[in-house]
Amino acid sequence: MSAVRLRATVLVATASLGLGLGLASAPVSAAPAPSLASETGAKRYVYDVRTGYTTDPQAAKEVKALLAKLPKDWMAKRNAFLAKQGLPHGPIQGAVESYLKGETCQPTALDGYVTRLLNGIPINRLFVLAILGVFDYPTYDAVFYGSKTNPDYALTPGTTGKVRGTMAVARGFWDIKNGDIDVMAMTSDMVVDRPRVIRIISLMFGTTSAEAAELADLLIPLIKDTTALRGGNNPIFSLNAFAFTAEGEQDPIFNGISDRIVMGEGIIKALRDTGNIEVGPQMVFSHEFGHHIQLENHAYPATTSPENTRMMELMADAYATYLDAHRKGLNFNMDRVNKAVEVAHLVGDCSTDSNGHHGTPQQRARAAAWGAALAKKNGVNVLPSKTVQALFLKALPGILAG
Ligand SMILES: [Zn+2]
Repeated sequence: MSAVRLRATVLVATASLGLGLGLASAPVSAAPAPSLASETGAKRYVYDVRTGYTTDPQAAKEVKALLAKLPKDWMAKRNAFLAKQGLPHGPIQGAVESYLKGETCQPTALDGYVTRLLNGIPINRLFVLAILGVFDYPTYDAVFYGSKTNPDYALTPGTTGKVRGTMAVARGFWDIKNGDIDVMAMTSDMVVDRPRVIRIISLMFGTTSAEAAELADLLIPLIKDTTALRGGNNPIFSLNAFAFTAEGEQDPIFNGISDRIVMGEGIIKALRDTGNIEVGPQMVFSHEFGHHIQLENHAYPATTSPENTRMMELMADAYATYLDAHRKGLNFNMDRVNKAVEVAHLVGDCSTDSNGHHGTPQQRARAAAWGAALAKKNGVNVLPSKTVQALFLKALPGILAG
């Protein structure tokens, strides 16, 4: 609970992958470095992302060279940036940290997918990238610089129709003010786009552009030289979707940023690769739209806790399938409803004691099934969003318990 936790984390992430350890969600103290109790040779070293400490000589050398480009207080600056109220955090940075610690999570197909992606990347390289927070660069880039008209943030080909179609239906379906929500994408290869990497490093570490450029010129070749990172085109860099609003944020860093839903190219690829592309993009988008409903209705609790995050995430799942299944919404048939419920299951996580906890796979599936059942029961009658919320909260104990 130390790190400031954000109203907006809740916003984050449809795909939460057992990520109890996001940089901002754990205390940013120099905890003793975890030792990696693992038989695999790859994991015989200690990697502490929080402090940059490692016993791996190759990684230590790289880290030293990279950190030499940053001011002495880089860690404090990074932590201050990450702790900013309202800043969204993706699941991958935390998943990488869990992976480096040798932790595993209750598996869904998505966990397996992410683990396979991580397995292909040399562990010392993962460590170096995690220290610099690279797995969240596309997220920050989309928050601070994303624009619905800039082609760098264009929706992933093949999903444009599904996303835009869902947006059009959602706008008319829900009773909240929503004309100001911009829809855009974040792409994985942002991490090798030199000017954008420089911009994010300056923002995150408080460096000058010249200092950031020196670091970027060390960092980008490391990414490009790692075969499994595919020149930056590895879905791991954008495996998330999130809703963001600057409304109510005090920090001037957020001034002028429009409300938005950002769809990661990586989550789309993950949905495709796990056989969920038919309804996955619609479900993910509907869930993020659900967060905007919650924001407009001021439904977020004042305090952050694993239980509160889970409640809001499961509610967003219910809002999502209510829209997807409803006759006045996307009007999914039962086959597609079942597939949407499967998507909710897919993105569940088991980090039950983390402030980033979104609900277990089973709980997310039950929340989604509950929303769809309510929609089918309502026929052509669309309930006010606050009524759906009230009904959901009544049903929540059952959704949690099963
Ligand atoms: Zn969410």
